[in-house]
Amino acid sequence: MTVSQEKTKVLKPGESPNAFTGIGDQNQLNPLFARAGEATDFPLNVLPPGESLPETAYQVVHDEAMLDGNSRLNLATFVGTWMDPFADKLYSETADKNMVDKDEYPQTAAIETRCWKMIASLWNSPDAEGSIGTSTIGSSEACMLGGLALKRRWQLARRAAGKSTEKPNLILSSAVQVCWEKFCNYWDVEARYVPISDEHKVLDGFELEKYVDENTIGVVAIMGVTYTGMYEPVAEIAKALDKIQADTGLDIPIHVDGASGGMIAPFLQPTLEWDFRVERVASISTSAHKYGLVYPGLGWVVWRTVADLPADLVFDVTYLGGHMPSFALNFSRPGAQVLLQYYLFLRLGFDGYYKVQKASQDVALYLSGEIGKMDAFELWNDGSDIPVFAWQLTKGHTDKWNLYHLSERLRLKGWLIPAYPMPDDISDLTVQRIVVRNGLSRNLAESLISDIKEAVDYLDLLESPMPTEGLKSSFTH
Ligand SMILES: *Cc1c(COP(=O)(O)O)cnc(C)c1O
Repeated sequence: MTVSQEKTKVLKPGESPNAFTGIGDQNQLNPLFARAGEATDFPLNVLPPGESLPETAYQVVHDEAMLDGNSRLNLATFVGTWMDPFADKLYSETADKNMVDKDEYPQTAAIETRCWKMIASLWNSPDAEGSIGTSTIGSSEACMLGGLALKRRWQLARRAAGKSTEKPNLILSSAVQVCWEKFCNYWDVEARYVPISDEHKVLDGFELEKYVDENTIGVVAIMGVTYTGMYEPVAEIAKALDKIQADTGLDIPIHVDGASGGMIAPFLQPTLEWDFRVERVASISTSAHKYGLVYPGLGWVVWRTVADLPADLVFDVTYLGGHMPSFALNFSRPGAQVLLQYYLFLRLGFDGYYKVQKASQDVALYLSGEIGKMDAFELWNDGSDIPVFAWQLTKGHTDKWNLYHLSERLRLKGWLIPAYPMPDDISDLTVQRIVVRNGLSRNLAESLISDIKEAVDYLDLLESPMPTEGLKSSFTH
């Protein structure tokens, strides 16, 4: 008996099938887009009263997802949108695995451990075996865990010294990603923002002593500032903290938010010391779904040593009758992404990652070179850190249009290239940013340049200024 026959059986004689349910043999005979559910409405905000054929439900969801943007033309996001067919095959085979269930999926758990150990070595951990790490759902969770460890270590030290733990603070650049604002908000930590400026485009240790005190739980250094893609000089920040320690005795650790750069710097800037080579770096996080090249959502966080992660934050889970440490905010979450990361580590190796990241950097440098040559624009940076760069409108170039108008014109061609204000203290400056990811080929980049030139020519030739009503920042972090 087919599913639809079974359903037909429960209808009373003469009763017509509900339009939503797709019940009735005629639904299988009707042409695809003429059958119930396709030709008639599904309710949008209430659960449909009855069932529908899987083909119908599939087609409706599939078609609606088609209205989302073309992810390959989305140059706003850092998050990967392409994996190869073997990854797709592995993903569909392992979509049912639950990361938290280490007892049922011990092999996935073992692979998770192998992955963070590989990453610990990539980040020059002095002793990958003596470090500790975990997968997370993304950098946001990884940063929360890094921040929590900083807070707890500070609390333990303060309590041991008989001092107050009432007012913890964390030092951040004003260009920090929103997950750190969340961390400070959710966990009652005062966020102390160091404003960026024309002279200090990133947090670089300048006047750090004005922000730090005995209640500082740590300093966050960003490898790949979301606004611009620039690296913060971790070693210089550490040097400023060394001086503060020499002057005041305060020993303040660094968490490196390497959401994007954590998987770029090891390959493209191997001699840059930003990772565990810098002694003050206690922990590092990254988004595997950014330049780790895995589908969303996977992140990693690694601590230099087991001692950097206070034991009272770690829970025991049973694992093959034994025990395994667990520290994560989520309980259940997909395990498939961890397997995808391992697949990519095996598939690409160091050389493969280098080639993929280098190709993205070459395209970023090509694009920034072409955009920098145009009279209308001045580059903020060129994409030689992570393959991300931003530019501003040349002062005095035009009073007819701004970067929001350009962003809109490019949207007509399908490109998503956001314009947005910079953070404090330069929030009157608008920039536009391109994130080059695996999949933006040189060929597509050339088309993009010709589309930008065409849009600028159009805007420059306007006889009167574009209206500025209703323009808003399309920036998503
Ligand atoms: C993207 C990003 C985050 C947040 O990462 P998710 O993986 O999206 O949670 C945090 N910090 C920086 C610097 C980022 O670029």
